[in-house]
Amino acid sequence: MKSEFSIHVAKENLKFSAAHFIAYKGFREPLHGHNYQVGVRVEGSLAHTGYVVDFGLIKKLTKEIVDRIDEHTIVPERSDCLRIDRSVPGQVRVRYENDEFVFPAGDVAMLPIVHSSAEELARYIWEELVAALRSRGALDEVAAVEVSVAEGPGQAAIFQREIVRD
Ligand code: ZN
Repeated sequence: MKSEFSIHVAKENLKFSAAHFIAYKGFREPLHGHNYQVGVRVEGSLAHTGYVVDFGLIKKLTKEIVDRIDEHTIVPERSDCLRIDRSVPGQVRVRYENDEFVFPAGDVAMLPIVHSSAEELARYIWEELVAALRSRGALDEVAAVEVSVAEGPGQAAIFQREIVRD
């Protein structure tokens, strides 16, 4: 059954700026950046509080996640074509074929994704947000969560999944 209620959050402060490049076998983008905008939609039923889930909590938790990426270079640590070397303390070296990037470790957001596409970023933020909501017991009335990530105006990738209960 489709849920009756949903809430949607896409605030100005759920933005982050980050550098990245898409890479897969045979192709690499040059390093560049975006001002990403994140949106969250939560579907569910009404709790005794009159909410599906508190808007303020969604905003706070989502902001904590995007703040960890903001003003960093995204490195997809599960890439199948980048060689990531962290053997020198304080450095992250990223190699693609004959090209090498060297970043100060503190400038890098190392994410458990294969490609730093908006689609994979949306899924990553979804997983982090749902884990944070779950650890606060805030998923009781939630049927599904959707996260959108836009690399620019009017161009967003969306990840949606139903919440599975134990
Ligand atoms: Zn890009």
